[in-house]
Amino acid sequence: MSELNLILLGPPGAGKGTQAQRLIDDFRLPYVATGEMLRTAVREGTPLGHEAAKYMNNGDLVPDEVIIGVTVERLQQGDTADGFILDGFPRTVDQAKALDAELQRVGRTLTAALLIDTPDEEVVRRISGRRQCVKNEQHVYHVEFDPPKHEGVCDQDGARLVQRDDDKPDTVRHRLDVYHDQTEPVIGYYDDRGVLRRFDGTRSPTEVHDHIRATLATLRLEESL
Ligand code: ADP
Ligand code: ADP
Repeated sequence: MSELNLILLGPPGAGKGTQAQRLIDDFRLPYVATGEMLRTAVREGTPLGHEAAKYMNNGDLVPDEVIIGVTVERLQQGDTADGFILDGFPRTVDQAKALDAELQRVGRTLTAALLIDTPDEEVVRRISGRRQCVKNEQHVYHVEFDPPKHEGVCDQDGARLVQRDDDKPDTVRHRLDVYHDQTEPVIGYYDDRGVLRRFDGTRSPTEVHDHIRATLATLRLEESL
């Protein structure tokens, strides 16, 4: 079986992390989420965390030179040999170019860039209701669309659910502006290279997941012909 090197693209709150969890279950691939890597660094108070926090709190992107190095280093680890699911990177065209250069250097190619297309109003609704587990931030809920069984408590490990600091309404609006301005050009970049696949992010998580799986199955079939 060939490698599955995947990128999840889309505005904040589109459902990238939600889909990533399902794809990890399907394909057993390592999940590389740059937002999560940065939040861990902030919590641990590392030099990377100190640098990144200045930008993240305002909803701005951390500079390319800060994020490219740590992401490339993560992709060089042995667990990515069969592929990876990259979430939250690239967020600028320069990051996309750096990723291409690295993949080329190691003789690998991108399988697909999966765009979860979601309009701004829906993003605001999703992010304002997003809650995540204090123990494992991959356990994500929505107060209205995907509530936990007991309010404020994670179904999976019983820990407390909290709102991310940058999920407050004013910061969300700014993150959306940043997305349109700096990240949207990445869509065209992958479209030009023939690897972009679009999904309607307004559908339910299960429908989006079914569509992604069908697309990946077709890609693999084409590859084996
Ligand atoms: P979301 O899941 O809402 O899309 P993330 O968790 O991916 O958000 O990212 C949170 C924050 O971390 C971003 O607003 C940004 O400050 C920073 N960040 C994450 N990935 C990158 C990246 N590739 N380039 C620059 N900044 C990033
Ligand atoms: P991202 O990783 O793109 O920032 P998340 O996966 O964290 O997005 O989803 C943002 C919020 O929206 C979460 O609260 C999640 O439960 C909810 N959500 C995700 N996908 C959908 C969907 N298809 N329909 C409704 N709500 C969704």
